[in-house]
Amino acid sequence: MINKKILIVEDEVKISDIVKAYLEKEGFTTTVAPTGQKAISLLKERYDLIILDLMLPDMSGEDICQVVREDSDTPIIMLTAKSDEDDRIHGLGIGADDYVVKPFSPRELVARVKAHLRRVKGKKDTSSFNSRDLVIDPLRFEVRKNDITVILTPTEFKLLQCLSEHPGQVFTRLQLVNVILGYDFEGYDRTIDAHIKNIRHKIEDNQKSPSYIKTVYGIGYKFSGQADAD
Ligand code: CA
Repeated sequence: MINKKILIVEDEVKISDIVKAYLEKEGFTTTVAPTGQKAISLLKERYDLIILDLMLPDMSGEDICQVVREDSDTPIIMLTAKSDEDDRIHGLGIGADDYVVKPFSPRELVARVKAHLRRVKGKKDTSSFNSRDLVIDPLRFEVRKNDITVILTPTEFKLLQCLSEHPGQVFTRLQLVNVILGYDFEGYDRTIDAHIKNIRHKIEDNQKSPSYIKTVYGIGYKFSGQADAD
């Protein structure tokens, strides 16, 4: 948890001081923003997690949440004095990952901060390419082409996953055989061609001029989709 940067957006100095002290004791680096405007100006920096007070003098935590969600999925823990259920659900509905109702125990808040950071670390994100034209979801073994789920066989999925994880790298057919089988298997080259043909059929707009899996003549294949920014 060392070197993790946390933004604390809170106008009550008493609260931000306590939260800051507890987090820094755990080795986190913290920045405090007492207003919404200040928070938004700080968002140019990357933070690993944001603690966000719902009631700020100049704007609401929800508004900031929406600004954050426009271009990042940084975990947000909302601090709220309102405890009725509608507000909680609303808070989560607009993109907060968690909420803590005031008054809260700083220890509990620190525990939640750690839990969210662990979750981010363990999360294997989906990869998307060519402006989300192609999305590969390794947890669900799912591929979406133009928002429509396409069914790949486990072998096809493994091949596509391997190629897309190493964009631009040329793989020989034999290497790809190893990806599928985990060992050398002579004479299997043509089967790779058949699998590649099937994958192309499922994910390419034009199979004669593929955007994702290109043939490198005499050698093998490479992935040439453009990974989307996070
Ligand atoms: Ca407040």
